[in-house]
Order: sequence, then structure tokens, then C-alpha cells
Amino acid sequence: MSLLSIQDLHARVGDKEILKGINLEVRPGEVHAIMGPNGSGKSTLAGVLAGRETYTVTQGSVRFDGNDLLGLSPEARSQAGVFLAFQYPVEIPGVGNLHFLRTALNAKRRAKGEEELDAMDFMQLAKDKAKLVELDSAFMGRSVNEGFSGGEKKRNEIFQMAVLQPKLALLDETDSGLDIDALRVVAGGVNALRAPDRSMVVITHYQRLLDYIVPDHVHVMAAGRIVRSGGRELALELEEKGYGWLGGEGVGAG
Ligand code: ADP
Ligand code: MG
Ligand code: MG
Repeated sequence: MSLLSIQDLHARVGDKEILKGINLEVRPGEVHAIMGPNGSGKSTLAGVLAGRETYTVTQGSVRFDGNDLLGLSPEARSQAGVFLAFQYPVEIPGVGNLHFLRTALNAKRRAKGEEELDAMDFMQLAKDKAKLVELDSAFMGRSVNEGFSGGEKKRNEIFQMAVLQPKLALLDETDSGLDIDALRVVAGGVNALRAPDRSMVVITHYQRLLDYIVPDHVHVMAAGRIVRSGGRELALELEEKGYGWLGGEGVGAG
């Protein structure tokens, strides 16, 4: 059975339709890559799944773990096990990264009927997980994303994922370049967090991330639709030929 099942999903921003009928099935443990030219709707799809208010769903359904995802608030989605790494993180001065994360983790634990972690247990957990992405403790205590470099933001996202242990991680890769070290660390973290009961949807404009994260399935979006799906060889083909060869509306750009 699918963990995530998207059927004929349409969504708009204002009066502009952006998603025009997305269908996608993600089973437990699978890693899916979504590629496609800039403006094709990749971030919109991630935002809709996370419940961002900017988007209005006009048609279709999304089931997550057997439940109607679209009926849940963003907080309830997070508590149910959906994690969206921020593509353009909001800076929240004065709110420590760890405080923010502990609050999110404890909300999730309460929702599952588990005991909250106290400050000391949480620190121990955070230190363990930070090693995965080679984050030092000074960094962990800083305000959420305040003054983080691109690479640090990415490490922090993976760190957050490692602490929260989601069932479904949506990773929306920035189009701006990550240096090769950051890329390797991020991919290493993602690969370490692969698990039979955890699925990941990795959104990326560039093929090179997939040199490090080997997806089970690759999809190409163009103009609000998935226009091609395949295995990892599809990503290699795209790197070689670009998006133009797929043909169709909106595939030429990028
Ligand atoms: P991608 O992530 O594939 O680059 P996006 O989902 O960011 O694509 O954008 C898809 C389309 O939706 C683009 O034409 C973009 O301009 C438009 N769009 C996305 N978010 C907004 C918004 N908040 N307001 C207006 N238009 C938006
Ligand atoms: Mg974009
Ligand atoms: Mg995007």
C-alpha cells in the first residue's frame, strides 16, 4: 500500500492554476526524485503537501498513511509524520534552532501519546543527530536560519529531519548552488536516514544531487504535470539531453 497517494491534484495561487492534475504513489521506504525546469510547479507541490496557506487546492485528493492529508492543518501534518525542509527558510530571530526543534518534536510525541523529552535528553539526542551532518554545537544553538549560509541551511534541514524522524520527508532542493562538501554531507545524511518505514521525495532542478542520492523512481514535472516517470536512468538521460527532448507544453525552459 502507498504511504502517499496523490490523485488528480490541482492547485492554484490566486487565480493562477499551477498544479494541473498530479498523480503520484509513494510506497514506504521509497525515494522519489522530482525534477523539471524552473517554474514547473515542484515547490508548489511540496508546499501543497505541507499545507502552506499560499496555495488553494481546487481538485483531487491526497492520502497519507491511509488518511485524508488535505483536511489536516500544517501542524497536524507534521505531527502525522510529514516533514518539509524549507526551501527559503523564514528567519526567526531570537528563536533558537534547538528550542524550535524540541517544541516540534515534543508536539509530535504528545500526538503519539509518548512522553515529552526534557532538556537534557533532548540535548543528547540533538548531539547524536548533529554528528550525522557534521554540525557543531555552536551552530545548533543559533537562531533558526539566521545568517546561515546555503550549505548550513541544508545541513540544518537534514539535522531537523534526523531529529524528527518523519515518515515522509519532502526535500525541496534550492536552485542555488551547494558546494560539493555540503552536497555530500546532505546526501550522506539523507542516505543514512533511508529506512523501510520512511519515504522521501527529493525535489531538485539539477541531476548532480542524484549522483549522491540514488532514487528508486524519477519523475519529471513540466507546466504543473508529471510528464515522465522512470527509474534512475531517467535522471541520467535528462542530464545528457536537458528537458527539451520530452516535448510538450512548458518543457523547453530551464
Ligand atoms: P518550481 O519549484 O518548479 O521552480 P514553483 O512551484 O516555484 O516552480 O512555481 C510554479 C509557478 O507558480 C511559477 O510560474 C511561479 O511563478 C508560480 N508561483 C509559485 N508560487 C507563487 C506565488 N506565491 N505567487 C504567485 N505565483 C507563484
Ligand atoms: Mg523554482
Ligand atoms: Mg522550486
